[in-house]
Amino acid sequence: MADGAEAVYIGIDVGGTNTAAGAADAEGRLIATVRRRTETSGGDALVRQLAEMVRELLAVRLPEAGFPQAADRGALRAVGVGIPGFLDTRRGLVRHAANLRLRDFPLADRLGGRLGVPVVLDNDVRMYAYGEATAGAAAGCGTALVVAVGTGLACAVVHRGRVWRGGGLAGEIGHVRVEGNRYACGCGRTGCLETLASAGGIVRQAQALMRRKRSVLAEWFPKRPTPEKTGWERPMTAADVARAADLGDAVAAGVFERAGRALGSALAVAVALLDPDAIVIGGGVSKAGERLLAPVRQALKERLHPLQAAKVNVTTARWPDDAGVIGSALAARARGEHPA
Ligand SMILES: [Zn+2]
Repeated sequence: MADGAEAVYIGIDVGGTNTAAGAADAEGRLIATVRRRTETSGGDALVRQLAEMVRELLAVRLPEAGFPQAADRGALRAVGVGIPGFLDTRRGLVRHAANLRLRDFPLADRLGGRLGVPVVLDNDVRMYAYGEATAGAAAGCGTALVVAVGTGLACAVVHRGRVWRGGGLAGEIGHVRVEGNRYACGCGRTGCLETLASAGGIVRQAQALMRRKRSVLAEWFPKRPTPEKTGWERPMTAADVARAADLGDAVAAGVFERAGRALGSALAVAVALLDPDAIVIGGGVSKAGERLLAPVRQALKERLHPLQAAKVNVTTARWPDDAGVIGSALAARARGEHPA
């Protein structure tokens, strides 16, 4: 964060539920962070919230972390923002972000106007991939696929440290149809990969299966909670399914197996086309580790030429929770140091 010039660069990862803002140093290490529940009542309220988070970092968190000069006027040089949605990055416009209720909103101009610095806007998954490519598991790779498995599922192609954006929709593999999958997707179609390989997809499959097969998940999340089960009166998460799988629960293990295989099958063609050195799997669901990664590798092995399958390294993200903030901060730094 603080160079000789004491310049501050801040990254913000706006999620459909929670938003995190942080300042990172030149190596991508987070120095201070602020987290909030995302303001989803509209563009102006969101801009107000993001500006407040930046000011809290500058005035409170960074000085607490040993960087008092962050509070100085002019210390902040640029802000990067990752948004879950379709963007016009050149104009700094959010074209459509359903979770945030934004349509054709000039977020970069509005936030930049409030803070008095340039704001770099990009899709959240591309910011995440930039973080992993610059300071994480994809650093040093010629070509890498960075996959974020969280609330949704998306992928970004990184080549020589840059994120490929295509016409703006590059990497959106979440809505590729998987044969034999009948789950309805939020996009209005059925059978999308995202309905299997995402946090919601993992939970939905587990809930469907535990009604038919014996599973510890049915004990943890009974239909009618009894007095001694009060601790579990909250919705099931993908982390619960991972924990059940770790305890040897066949239903839970099967859910990750199916999700990983579906993901690996969808990635196989991308691997054949692009010949990446690595597939970096991040997002909250990636914390399941080998439960998810082993079936991805297996599916690749079954579908690719042995030379291709042997070459690609399937690994977890270095910063599963923070790569979005780190990538956004590093994108801001790149803009600040090399103005377009
Ligand atoms: Zn879909």
